[in-house]
Amino acid sequence: MSKRFAASGPAAVDGVSVEIERGEFFVLLGPSGCGKTTLLRMLAGLEAPDRGRIVIDGADMAGVPPYRRPVNIMFQSYALFPHMNVARNVSFGLRQERLGREEVAGRVAAMLELVKMTDFAERPPGSLSGGERQRVALARALVKEPKLLLLDEPLTALDRKLREETRFELKRIHRRVGITFVMVTHDQEEAMSMATRIAVMRDGRIEQMGAPEAVYERPANRFVAGFLGAVNLFEGKVADVGDGWLWVETDVGRLAVTHAPLALGTDVALAVRPEKVRLATIPTQSSLNSLPGILRTIAYRGEASSFEIELASGRLVRATLPNLGDGIGFAPGSQIWLAFEPDAARVLQS
Ligand code: ADP
Ligand code: MG
Repeated sequence: MSKRFAASGPAAVDGVSVEIERGEFFVLLGPSGCGKTTLLRMLAGLEAPDRGRIVIDGADMAGVPPYRRPVNIMFQSYALFPHMNVARNVSFGLRQERLGREEVAGRVAAMLELVKMTDFAERPPGSLSGGERQRVALARALVKEPKLLLLDEPLTALDRKLREETRFELKRIHRRVGITFVMVTHDQEEAMSMATRIAVMRDGRIEQMGAPEAVYERPANRFVAGFLGAVNLFEGKVADVGDGWLWVETDVGRLAVTHAPLALGTDVALAVRPEKVRLATIPTQSSLNSLPGILRTIAYRGEASSFEIELASGRLVRATLPNLGDGIGFAPGSQIWLAFEPDAARVLQS
């Protein structure tokens, strides 16, 4: 699909093509303005694509208005009706369908139970916390049993701790109801912890699509590597080629990586995640990919610590080590050696 809002402007969505399996928890991830909400709104029928089509469970959605699609959308603002209590907010869609009183009551009760809001049924939305409102909005979106539930940044309004708990909660609910979820977020950690598959977007296009682990461990290009978590990029040229090996000449010296042959002189970037960088106070036995530097900063983060090491060239490298409770043994300003295994680096050509 493609969508352009102004004839002369850039495309908000630019030739996106994706197939989502029934029951998936599919996440659109990308920086603000990359077209995530526009894509979601086209699925819901709130925006019409300029080109392309949407097929849900075999049915073409062209010309099908939002309220006739087997789709429900949960907005970032939750958009609850302030004058209706929780139960009536949840039952709203069912009452519009003129379902019988008992069926409505039964389905609403089941939904409130699912989101753990049974005790709040009589309360007005104004008396609820952000997390509680989020759960009511979710119940309201799910009660009509759509084939597809769309969630636009559903956790952004919550504080950090609640956001992390709600991730697990949403995953649990997703498994229980068996409905296909498509969620939009700009938060890479949220995307990785919840998705069955992630599509990483930039400027209206999908840069890479895959399971969280695949996208994180094997990013297709520099943008994806940098957007999903911290990464050290060593830019260079292929200087020597062996059997399953490359030597890359970089600004910090010659580095070895495990990779299929590439032409000599090819421009590449080696992407090394901070958690794959080892640190030692003495040079490591194998001198492969071992670089001396000065430890500049230590950021204690609770479960792990982050380190910044300055190499002779002035370039900073980041490393992360889990806090195992035995102290870190490194002091800022001290000489240190960092190293990484040849198979810890991902070779990027774009
Ligand atoms: P995201 O959700 O990834 O932050 P959006 O889909 O909201 O991005 O927006 C993508 C691009 O389309 C942005 O440049 C935005 O300004 C533009 N855009 C979105 N909606 C409209 C609209 N209704 N009219 C004009 N431009 C729009
Ligand atoms: Mg958006």
